[in-house]
Amino acid sequence: MTQKVAFIGLGNMGGPMAKNLIKAGFAVTVYDLNKDVMADLAKAGATTADQATQAVSDADFVISMLPNGAIVKSLYTGSNGLIDHLKKDVLVIDSSTIAADDARYVAKACEMKGIAMIDAPVSGGVAAAQAGSLTFICGGEKDHYDRAQAVLQAMGKNIFHAGASGAGQVAKICNNMLLAIHMIGTAEALNMGAQQGLDPAVMSDIMKASSGNNWSLQVYNPYPNVMDNVPSSNGYQGGFMTDLMSKDLGLSQELAAKSKSATPLGALATQLYQIHQAAGQGKKDFSSILEMLQND
Ligand code: NAD
Repeated sequence: MTQKVAFIGLGNMGGPMAKNLIKAGFAVTVYDLNKDVMADLAKAGATTADQATQAVSDADFVISMLPNGAIVKSLYTGSNGLIDHLKKDVLVIDSSTIAADDARYVAKACEMKGIAMIDAPVSGGVAAAQAGSLTFICGGEKDHYDRAQAVLQAMGKNIFHAGASGAGQVAKICNNMLLAIHMIGTAEALNMGAQQGLDPAVMSDIMKASSGNNWSLQVYNPYPNVMDNVPSSNGYQGGFMTDLMSKDLGLSQELAAKSKSATPLGALATQLYQIHQAAGQGKKDFSSILEMLQND
């Protein structure tokens, strides 16, 4: 029997993820506050719902891909929250990047109603969401993780079980702190080389074959027109917003304080992204941090 998936949050990431579920043969019902993205998904074969509660009522799987923890908590456990509208044998998968404590809070609320939930934040960006090659980093009971495989494999290539509830979010936040640090470092190196008259494309080739090689250089070059199909070659539109990176860095610093971990570069990266946000660049892709260095 065709399995039913409810997908809530169809932004830069959620939209292409839901489309891959449709391609894989799931019956997908979608909900987003933004009617335009719902119309786009309807064209791709999704059923649209007028309310989130309506989308989930007969779903075998519920997947959410939302901006932050406050929204995720309110969606599931707020007034008229989804946990009162789910089938008992549903599996809830939250793929938003949120605080581990928020993920555990929602999972606990689900558990108290007899509902299974895992946190499954993703890494890979919009291109990987479109290609169905995301990395999923899961936290929760192994049985629930095993049950999630069928849907996660339709959207991703690498699927990890990081540990108990919240562990997926911890691993994801550690990764994104590192991502911010190497993106800033990559932007600094490319900008300095360009200021010295070097071609950023040649610089990128040199560093990719040298010890500075990293993911930002390989697949997400921050310098405009070095790579096709990346936000820097498209006015820094789409991709992973500075607002979201700044949120993730804030989460990394909360985690650092809580676990008494020294993260001096993470702290500096947090400040740099906050400065960039304060300069009104929050809606641009996070690789636009290069522009801040240039303007300075
Ligand atoms: P986005 O802002 O493009 O999309 C979020 C969507 O959620 C929007 O369409 C918005 O209308 C919708 N939404 C907000 N509140 C809602 C509500 N109450 N009910 C229904 N819909 C609601 O964000 P994104 O880039 O798709 O990121 C989503 C999540 O994935 C974030 O937690 C982000 O940190 C994480 N993430 C993003 C990337 C990336 O490259 N963009 C990569 C990895 C992880």
